[in-house]
Amino acid sequence: MNPSASTAPTLKAVDHYIGGQRLPSSGAAGTTLNSPVDGKPLGLLHPASTAELDQTVAAAQKAFLEWRATPVKERVQPLFRFKQLVEDNIAELSQLVTAENGKTPAESEAGIRKGLEVVEYATSLPQLITGELLEVSSGVDCYTRSYPLGVTAGITPFNFPAMVPFWMFPLAIATGNSFILKPSDQVPFTPLRLAELLSQAGLPAGVFNVLQGGRETVEALLDHRGIAAAAFVGSTPVARTVYARGTAAGKRMLALGGAKNHLVVMPDADPEVTARNVVSSAMGCAGQRCMAASVLLAVGNCDHIIEAIINVARGIRLGQDMGAIINPKARDRIVGYIDRAAAGSTKVLLDGRGAKVAGKEGGNYVGPTIIDGVVPGQEWACDEIFGPVLSILRVKALDEALAIENASPFGNAAAIYTSDGGTAAYFEARANAGMVGINIGVPVPREPFAFGGWNESRFGIGDITGRDGLAFWTKTRKVTKKWSAASAKNWMS
Ligand code: NAD
Repeated sequence: MNPSASTAPTLKAVDHYIGGQRLPSSGAAGTTLNSPVDGKPLGLLHPASTAELDQTVAAAQKAFLEWRATPVKERVQPLFRFKQLVEDNIAELSQLVTAENGKTPAESEAGIRKGLEVVEYATSLPQLITGELLEVSSGVDCYTRSYPLGVTAGITPFNFPAMVPFWMFPLAIATGNSFILKPSDQVPFTPLRLAELLSQAGLPAGVFNVLQGGRETVEALLDHRGIAAAAFVGSTPVARTVYARGTAAGKRMLALGGAKNHLVVMPDADPEVTARNVVSSAMGCAGQRCMAASVLLAVGNCDHIIEAIINVARGIRLGQDMGAIINPKARDRIVGYIDRAAAGSTKVLLDGRGAKVAGKEGGNYVGPTIIDGVVPGQEWACDEIFGPVLSILRVKALDEALAIENASPFGNAAAIYTSDGGTAAYFEARANAGMVGINIGVPVPREPFAFGGWNESRFGIGDITGRDGLAFWTKTRKVTKKWSAASAKNWMS
């Protein structure tokens, strides 16, 4: 999506979804959104006005009062129906994700299906939220009850228009909160369709709302006194400031940030499997994934594996196996990294610059790129390039690879390829990342194992899904109870 300033009169403004209906935005001047696939205009995005934000919070507050009093077994029923509706409409939803984000339809569908795992988890809430009870002394019970927080919010990035919102709203609403999603201003369409499907599934109006906008809308949401908590997923600099601003305003906050994931290849790794996996990790979604492996640490002599990696990457058909970059600015930024690599002492083994897709000349494309001879501290080793660019660093020993991985300020994912269990265990124990892969290049945990990184890939406590997700969207009351037996005597014969 290309947010370039425009006032094209023929383009339709992107709606908000407030209190159970689509409402046209009346906010400030709009920006034109162009499809990354072919550059064709999709709509005009107006950031929410202050009045629209207040209207959304009021609708969510009103809905919350009834929703929180709805028993949990009833609250999860719309989510069962919603899951089925998403599956029934998955082709349409995937096309929508592809049109606004640029990834391939297969990648779009995979992201939606992964997101549905969180819906499944949320539907089991009655089994998960039963509380605890202990007789702490004779005749005295302590027990817990969970309560929702109130009106909550989610702020999401461009790279997974459905999956990342799915990390948030199913748990937030199943636990009894109402929710305002502020999607990326580059991909505002998919969440609107999700809102319609939630309504169709029977979710009461105002429990799920979508408010469009960019930075100003985020800041207004974070400052709004009517919102109790917010989850954020996006780049590290923004995650850091969003977390600080939200907590300063008294909100419960969790902010997931960016990444620079390292993938260690040992000489004993299976060359074919490793090559396919490394390429899929680095080039999938055109490298625009927080779980993408973007640094390959080749230990010892891995020439045969690197050769296999180049061959697999060379076979990628742009426009079919690999999609587009989100906007021309992001594409030019990625190309800048390759330009500088080509001009320096590093070797560009595979060069994706100037890539075009026939019939889609207006799209934003970069082909698979592999840069060899990178050394620690260089920009290709440190920066989140967020494109289909794999940087190779050659090291002599596993400890040297670990030292480089451990020094990264990020900590989302790290992976190793080896055929030796002891080597894998050594790596697993020492990698400085929240999600570790062993012979798996994109180690996204399947639910109920939760998603979440460490270090500067996350600000706040806990993971965003799984049990930590439930804890994030709820508060717990501890009750200590004692009844006197005296009154019972009145009823004794
Ligand atoms: P981004 O940080 O630019 O934007 C994220 C959200 O914040 C969007 O809704 C955007 O409108 C808003 N925003 C942008 N600038 C802002 C500002 N200055 N103040 C307040 N809000 C602002 O991220 P992006 O480019 O949309 O997404 C890519 C980034 O997200 C990458 O860094 C990627 O690694 C990261 N990401 C992380 C995870 C994870 O789980 N850790 C998952 C997906 C994406």
